[in-house]
Amino acid sequence: MRADRDTGAVRRWRSEAIHRIEADFNRSADTHLIRVELPRHPGITLYLKDESSHPTGSLKHRLARSLFLYALCNGWIGPDTCVIESSSGSTAVSEAYFAKMLALRFIAVVPASTAAPKLDAIRFHGGEIHMVDDPRTVYDVSNTLATETGGHYLDQFTYAERATDWRGNNNIAESIFAQMSAEEHPVPRWIVCGAGTGGTSATIGRFIGYQRHATRLCVADPVHSVFHRHFSDRQALSLPEGCGSCIEGIGRPRVEPSFIPSVIDRMIAVEDVASIGAMRALSRRLGRRVGGSTGTNLVAVTQLVEEMAARGDVGSIVTILCDGGERYGCTYYDDPWLDARGLDWRAQETAFSAIFGL
Ligand SMILES: *Cc1c(COP(=O)(O)O)cnc(C)c1O
Repeated sequence: MRADRDTGAVRRWRSEAIHRIEADFNRSADTHLIRVELPRHPGITLYLKDESSHPTGSLKHRLARSLFLYALCNGWIGPDTCVIESSSGSTAVSEAYFAKMLALRFIAVVPASTAAPKLDAIRFHGGEIHMVDDPRTVYDVSNTLATETGGHYLDQFTYAERATDWRGNNNIAESIFAQMSAEEHPVPRWIVCGAGTGGTSATIGRFIGYQRHATRLCVADPVHSVFHRHFSDRQALSLPEGCGSCIEGIGRPRVEPSFIPSVIDRMIAVEDVASIGAMRALSRRLGRRVGGSTGTNLVAVTQLVEEMAARGDVGSIVTILCDGGERYGCTYYDDPWLDARGLDWRAQETAFSAIFGL
């Protein structure tokens, strides 16, 4: 059931709700663009768009804000709507933050395997948890819960690509290009990101096209994800065995509706062990922990840097620091956890440290 658009009280509530989200945005600073020199390649500079500095700690803060505004402006959310999402991680944390801001009930539908720190973060922001044993059922269970509660399923995997204004409105791409404007190479050769919903790559790819920039878009994807297979063969739509990657936030077993391959110039498949090694190397370089998907991005960046250097090319490359390492203390930063999974990351860390001259 949808909230009645014509009721004066609902209309006033909706207006106040949008105002609250906009006022929160108005109080927030933009995320930093960190410049990282690569001593081995003096003509090439790396930039990290630090999305860990959002109030809820990841790039999903932008997505959650967009999904709430989109649902409010569509008349899908009213003062008594229970808001539901299928997410095992960062999206639910950010959405719980906005639901609390609007005093709405929020339920995250999560696989039973979800790590405790993620659940704690969702609960910290006032969200409720609904666990399912089979991860493949999260979409159906979310729909059923929405029907039963008369609520609204935000559905990040469908709406991520359309809820964000791709032409601008300080989306991540517009922010990156504005922050690059005073650099020696203001138009990057490459922007590198990952794909979970596909929303970030859709926004960046469309913005590059619209602005007619020469920048190319590369998506770094776990080897055990369907997205890069779909990129080279549009018939590949799902992985029957599921997505075997341990990198949270990216890589999916089915091609999500929000993944738009036509705006991507290149995809690079990355082994989890390389992602972990690169994540550790970058964390040492920055003096603070970053998440696993940032490591995946860095593996692709390293390959592109080496290709540029081999051609004698100079320029800039931008990638996304998707989230910090705080939520991964019991996983990617726990040596026994990695060893138990046969992830021999040490040689990889050494190899990726070289790009920073470490
Ligand atoms: C969601 C997510 C991504 C991928 O972003 P999308 O816009 O959903 O494709 C990368 N890293 C982390 C940590 C994420 O949570």
